[in-house]
Amino acid sequence: MAARHGTNRPSKKVLFVSAELAPFSKVGGLGDVAASLPKALLKCGVDVRVVTPAWPGVMDKVRDAGYKVFTFPQKVTASYAWRVVEATVNQVDVDGVPTYFLEAPEYGGDVYPWDVNAWTVRPYAIFCMHALDLRRAVDWEPEIYHCHDWTSAFLSCALAWHKSYGQLSAKSVMTLHNVAHQGMFPRGVFLEESGLDASCFNMWQLEFYGQVNLLKGAIIASTALTTVSPRYAWEIQTYESTQALAPVIYANRGKLHGILNGIDYDYWNPAADPMLPECYSVSSLDRRAASRAKLIENTPFDPSYDGPIVVCVSRLVEQKGFDIILPALKQLDSLGAKFIFLGSGHRWIEDRLRQAASEHRDSLCFFPGYNEPLSHLMYAGGDIYLMPSLFEPCGLSQMIAMRYGAVPVVREVGGLIDTVRDADCDGGGNGFTFITYDTQGMLWSLRRAIERYANKKAWNKIRLRGMQEDFSWNRSAKLYRDLYRSI
Ligand code: ADP
Repeated sequence: MAARHGTNRPSKKVLFVSAELAPFSKVGGLGDVAASLPKALLKCGVDVRVVTPAWPGVMDKVRDAGYKVFTFPQKVTASYAWRVVEATVNQVDVDGVPTYFLEAPEYGGDVYPWDVNAWTVRPYAIFCMHALDLRRAVDWEPEIYHCHDWTSAFLSCALAWHKSYGQLSAKSVMTLHNVAHQGMFPRGVFLEESGLDASCFNMWQLEFYGQVNLLKGAIIASTALTTVSPRYAWEIQTYESTQALAPVIYANRGKLHGILNGIDYDYWNPAADPMLPECYSVSSLDRRAASRAKLIENTPFDPSYDGPIVVCVSRLVEQKGFDIILPALKQLDSLGAKFIFLGSGHRWIEDRLRQAASEHRDSLCFFPGYNEPLSHLMYAGGDIYLMPSLFEPCGLSQMIAMRYGAVPVVREVGGLIDTVRDADCDGGGNGFTFITYDTQGMLWSLRRAIERYANKKAWNKIRLRGMQEDFSWNRSAKLYRDLYRSI
């Protein structure tokens, strides 16, 4: 096997197995990581490829984006519920990374199910078996399967315990992006249908409080475990957001590595972002004004407004702090700032934001839905980025915000601790933080940020520190490469 990029050690063959992939099927940060980390690994000399389901509409997006698609004559197969399920293999070169989009009617319609049960987890188990069969169709044998979250957890379990895959010599790495989602459901006939031996249903393997828990199985079955920030690696051994999985993670801590996520510096680059009206960098910050003006144009706000704009681009779920944001909306008019929210998720959060926007037309604007170009404009045109998460494995949004010059206000939890330092406590601070998960704590930090905004010199120092942080994949990709080598 050829050594690459100046290293004498052979590169490992690694297949990323991910349910989402930016920009084709991104739902959140996992989609970003599945797209940007392989690109960075390639530069470090890892022979990396990606496999992902071609959810409905994904192949259209791929073709519309101008990629050339090669469809393999041979299909991949899986045996599920005593019948053979086939998938078509489409290969696309995405920034040099061979990427396989698997197409099968059995995958269904959505990247994630709203309800996890023995029926709705079928597509993910089938997809994992297809990913394991890919080596035959494309004649490339992975040495390591790198799985991400519960949707690909079945693969780690199958490599360890499945009668058809248990004899493969490949290893698996499981990255825990969010331990709150575990793929846990009443057993039904899942084990029998998927071919995992029914004897796996015990407390040392897949059983968890009387149900099947795929993530638990993968934590035990995988060769190495990683998670997306050093702080989260510590928290999930002790912390309640793991829904009781903490003892299992603690027992497997010997193979757990906390590696901070990075962001794709080519894509998230205000100096070359085609979605901005005018590009800018640390040395031309005044050009940010064009993004601010365009952002305000999209809102009912007075175009001449020159105070702070607080932005938030987020999934609308409890994790992101909406329990403490929503009560604060009553006090909006007294805060001396304008707020712009973009997001989709729980209906009740959308409804409350919509209502607040209609009651406070001068100070709050809400854009429901997923909107990539608008998100770029918000990072570039906003001054303060609000992210008061209940828990946050890593968080990419605060890093993107800093790169674009929006100062983060965050809760001290998970990856937010590893990336944001309070400007009032630390001479080199790049944001504002608070500890206790309550509305008053959040408002305390938000007010400090809004007050500081009035002092342009002090504000710019904080903003520039954030813009000059290195949140690229350079360091972390090398840590993953070293981990693969050690396996
Ligand atoms: P999580 O993965 O928990 O959702 P992260 O902060 O790690 O949170 O990553 C969120 C990513 O998804 C960021 O790139 C953010 O810009 C993007 N994002 C979230 N919601 C939206 C939305 N409604 N429209 C556009 N982008 C969004």
